[in-house]
Amino acid sequence: MMESDNISRSQQVVSGQGTDHRVALITGANKGIGFEIARQLARAQVTVLLGARDSARGEAAAVALRSEGLDARFVHLDVSDAASVQHAAAIIGGWYGRLDILVNNAGINDAADGPPGSADIDAAKRVFDTNFFGPLAVTQAMLPLLRQAPAARIVNMSSTLGSLASNGDPASPYYGVRPIAYNASKAALNMLTVTLAEELRDATIAVNAVCPGYVSTDLNGHTGYLSPQDAAATPVRLALLTDASVTGRFISAEGDVPW
Ligand code: NAP
Repeated sequence: MMESDNISRSQQVVSGQGTDHRVALITGANKGIGFEIARQLARAQVTVLLGARDSARGEAAAVALRSEGLDARFVHLDVSDAASVQHAAAIIGGWYGRLDILVNNAGINDAADGPPGSADIDAAKRVFDTNFFGPLAVTQAMLPLLRQAPAARIVNMSSTLGSLASNGDPASPYYGVRPIAYNASKAALNMLTVTLAEELRDATIAVNAVCPGYVSTDLNGHTGYLSPQDAAATPVRLALLTDASVTGRFISAEGDVPW
């Protein structure tokens, strides 16, 4: 039995009360942009499941949202651990039988990442494990639940650093920021976005990628100039989309990002 089984029994959840009964899973939701996405979705009357790999941090985040009167629940989820991903899907299936919104937010960078000529290969594999294989595995595990929802939405937290066009454009503000593993992992996530959007077009499940901008979080030592609150607005908008024809796009607060 995993830790989340006990937590699910002990925690107090405002199940269903005051919600529109949509259920959202946000990975890496214990802090940073993911936590703010969870808060803003919950404020929009969605029941939010905060995925986190560390139970204490995840439960503390859920308690913080519940103390604001929001409908929030912790789910243990390490996106790079296949057993954890499967277990989370089983838990959510048991609780709700469906999932309306999946936000693939968990992501890392790595100090040993770097320019393509010298980046550490093991670091590159670690980054890909979390930033690409993680969302792929979580999406596959959650798809049966997403298919049970009337109009499911998937939002992938990408980055303009994953834009092939920006990396090759000297006029881009991101030109010259070249941690190969991070950038390539986000480019791969973008490919997942496009290909999955097409695969799910007939299922009317919209799949979009987001660049939140340069955000002050632990990921970058708080050097970003946007707040997580502001950065959460675009992913939340895409998570709550009513128009399923907006799919297979790469979007920031300024509009479409070049692939
Ligand atoms: P953050 O504050 O460092 O938060 C990252 C979150 O991901 C944390 O909750 C972390 O959990 C979680 N995480 C990492 N590995 C995980 C795993 N294997 N399983 C589950 N959770 C895991 O970073 P952030 O800036 O909010 O980043 C959120 C997303 O936005 C990332 O995908 C990032 O690439 C993307 N993004 C950020 C920026 C920016 O400027 N900040 C710009 C573009 C895109 P722990 O607390 O346990 O480490």
